Amino acid sequence: MDLSYIINQLGEDRELYFNAIAPPIVQSSNFAFDTVADLRDLLQDEYKGFLYSRGNNPTVDILRQKLAALDGAEDALVFGSGAAAIFVSVLSQVKQGDHVVCVQDPYNWARHILEDLLPRFGVSTTFVDGVYTENFEKAIRPNTRLIYLESPNSFTFELQDIEAITRLARSKGIVTILDNSYCTPLYQQPGRLGVDLCLQSATKFISGHSDTVAGVLTGSREMLRKIFVSEFLSVGSTIAPFSAWLLLRGLRTMEIRLKRSQESTQEICQWLKKQPQVEKVFYPLDPEFPQYELAQKQMKGAAGLVTIQLKATEAAQVERFCNSLKNFLMAVSWGGHESLIFPACAAVPEGGFSADQPKHRMVRIYIGLEEPGFLKADLAQALAQI
Ligand SMILES: *Cc1c(COP(=O)(O)O)cnc(C)c1O
Repeated sequence: MDLSYIINQLGEDRELYFNAIAPPIVQSSNFAFDTVADLRDLLQDEYKGFLYSRGNNPTVDILRQKLAALDGAEDALVFGSGAAAIFVSVLSQVKQGDHVVCVQDPYNWARHILEDLLPRFGVSTTFVDGVYTENFEKAIRPNTRLIYLESPNSFTFELQDIEAITRLARSKGIVTILDNSYCTPLYQQPGRLGVDLCLQSATKFISGHSDTVAGVLTGSREMLRKIFVSEFLSVGSTIAPFSAWLLLRGLRTMEIRLKRSQESTQEICQWLKKQPQVEKVFYPLDPEFPQYELAQKQMKGAAGLVTIQLKATEAAQVERFCNSLKNFLMAVSWGGHESLIFPACAAVPEGGFSADQPKHRMVRIYIGLEEPGFLKADLAQALAQI
């Protein structure tokens, strides 16, 4: 299916709503039935229609069709956050006594679920360095049910060889989940590389305007129907119709936003590599990135995020750089129109900084939609403060 068709036409039955170009926000919690037989029919199979908006809603349904098609998947579920998509997808695949193998540095809240919450219910997790596929093989036990991946991660961008790992998982009947927030389906389609369930934080590039929190899960109709009637409806973390509408609007411009952000990121990445205050630059499509070849093989692009490791001996130098930036906002998250920075040392308690730990000297930069020259000038004046 053409990307342009998915973005502009798929799922939009405009004759149902006055031929309006923008779809309506169907702000209704529930839907009425003419007969008991019709109501009984939907109660027996809520997955197939509109009963109650915790399950499905017409505005959300348009979004679901587009998000599934973008991933080349049969269906998509949309959540009130990316974290909910992680929680529901993981919960749906494990039971007491099961074991999970997870990539070493997944998104914080994925780690919390696997490391802190699930052990309370008898589910254990082994975290492995995902750069080496054999680490997954070594970690698999007879009770391993799930492999959880995130490729690339959103700080130092380590990749996993998705095809090799899904082949291994399939041979042992293990389900795979992959967090694709960084690439989005425009730059990587993990389902086509064998991943069973793909998730994303839609808060980032899909929304694109830093104005809503949401998550997406895609996969086969069989798997998603099972998740829908159980964990999805139980957890109740669905998306509100207005937020779904914002994501539909975000999708209209997503391709061009990612393209602009990627071009600026590449330009700024090359510039950063020449700055004397910068020790190292992390960006997966930089030819010097250790997994550049794998990145080229399984990714079509890399927009926005680039991390620098500063030459600094004390926290004050890193802080001076960050505090001096005028046109980058200091904040968590990324994927919006605005450029951001996030220093890793902000997560280190006061007095805990050690220059020997490279991570403490790392600052993640998100390049938004501004002019690259405007951003470089700001970075240059802030680097001079170090
Ligand atoms: C932000 C993020 C999430 C969580 O998504 P929320 O929408 O914030 O709940 C998950 N994975 C990655 C890689 C993220 O960047």
